[in-house]
Amino acid sequence: SAALVWFRRDLRTYDHAALHQALRAHPRVHCVFVFDTTILDALPRRDRRVEFILRAVEEVDAALRAMGGALIVRHGDPLVEIPRLAAELGVSAVYANRDYEPAAIARDAEVKRRTASAVPGDTASHNFHDFKDQVIFDRSEVMTQGGTPFSVFTPYKNAWLKRLDPTALRSWPIEDYASHLAPPRDDAPLPTLRDLGFEATDLAALGVPTGMSGAQALFRDFIERIDDYAATRDFPAIGGTSGLSPHLRFGTISIRQLAAYAHAQAGRGASTWLSELIWRDFYHAILWHQPRVATQCFKPAFDALRWDDAPDLLDAWRAGRTGYPLVDAAMRQLVATGWMHNRLRMIVASFLTKDLGLDWRQGEAWFAEKLLDFDLAANNGGWQWAASTGCDAQPWFRIFNPVTQSEKFDTEGRFIRRYVPELARVPQKFIHAPWKMSAAEQAACGVRIGADYPAPVVDHAEARARTLARFQAIRE
Ligand code: FAD
Repeated sequence: SAALVWFRRDLRTYDHAALHQALRAHPRVHCVFVFDTTILDALPRRDRRVEFILRAVEEVDAALRAMGGALIVRHGDPLVEIPRLAAELGVSAVYANRDYEPAAIARDAEVKRRTASAVPGDTASHNFHDFKDQVIFDRSEVMTQGGTPFSVFTPYKNAWLKRLDPTALRSWPIEDYASHLAPPRDDAPLPTLRDLGFEATDLAALGVPTGMSGAQALFRDFIERIDDYAATRDFPAIGGTSGLSPHLRFGTISIRQLAAYAHAQAGRGASTWLSELIWRDFYHAILWHQPRVATQCFKPAFDALRWDDAPDLLDAWRAGRTGYPLVDAAMRQLVATGWMHNRLRMIVASFLTKDLGLDWRQGEAWFAEKLLDFDLAANNGGWQWAASTGCDAQPWFRIFNPVTQSEKFDTEGRFIRRYVPELARVPQKFIHAPWKMSAAEQAACGVRIGADYPAPVVDHAEARARTLARFQAIRE
């Protein structure tokens, strides 16, 4: 009997759980990717992610063709497209890798229901098979001794490491069964961006490596630097991190390949990096167990927080015009490149919630729109961490000082100068707090604070006091 493998956030053709299982069990396996109009219709017409996905889809198709198969590409609502295609192809089963976002879980349940009735003569409910592929441990695989989900990272990480055995890192090979791939049905070309209703972006100009090949190139490059990761990862002017987040998001690289590599290394760099991969599993598990975090605070008491309503401050933050140079450089990096360094994500998220007094959901939504690596679980986890409303979050009374963070993590102001050219000639002494320059000092470096570059939109000390009061109020 034939099967259909539905690709989603697993855009690769090696070490792929669903594809492996389908090929092993069925002599004839079709593959499909659906450009989901229920997601795409809401996006701006120029979206780097759509182009990133299309490049990855092209590589998947080429790789399948090299093995004798092909990728069927549809553009529509998967609730309609998958059952229709399943019926058209007469397959007895649909295979997919699990997605843990609440909307995806609901979508898959509905596809499963509809597929059951679309497959002729099949009344079994077993015809939609889903597999763990995106993370090392999912759902309830790592729990406390009491059988409850973890809400603190370090004990979760220890339990995760204890549970790790070679089977958890084992790859799901494809090549052995490649002869089971169904040959191309027709030679309809893959859609172009324009066919999908989108405009070209600056993805190629930015030099963002795409697809499986791009991911492997990034990983090879990172392996050369992994020993330095623990020492360099916090400094945005240094490319100390892997840059693999969009590839992990869309599955153009296998998490097992990365975790197995990091686990096999002895150094501190690799073990620190493995911890970051474990954070990723942790936030996925949080979202799975507590889907309410997608809209509400992990700690329900914090739902009572009264955030400010200040659209002008939100605009200043989005545009990178708050008057705090490192915050502004980071926000401009996000818009200019679709990526932001982790240290900066922490700083700007703290700034939005604790200096501007704005609801973390407003920042989360801006990141969701702009990040190439946007992932609901990690983004929500990061935002709630910074806002102190999350699991294992920054305590609410610990408030980042945007100037000292800047002095510590971009000491010479190299990163600031890269993204805030108005401040290019400001000396190191003032680069973190340029409003402290006298008029003569401003003139000497060619910038007028308040004209060419904004004066601070809030005073940090005052903002800090307001935030402490805001949190104090809900404790009483
Ligand atoms: P590396 O340092 O090389 O880390 C390797 C991988 O580990 C990353 O690619 C990522 O998949 C994972 N990882 C690293 N740090 C974290 C973390 N704190 N939580 C979960 N996974 C992590 N990451 C996203 O992938 N998508 C998001 O939407 C996202 N939003 C964030 C929002 C905020 C407010 C914060 C503080 C963090 C967010 N992160 C998010 C986590 C982190 O900032 C990025 O994963 C990281 O900057 C990506 O760069 P990299 O691939 O070079 O990371």
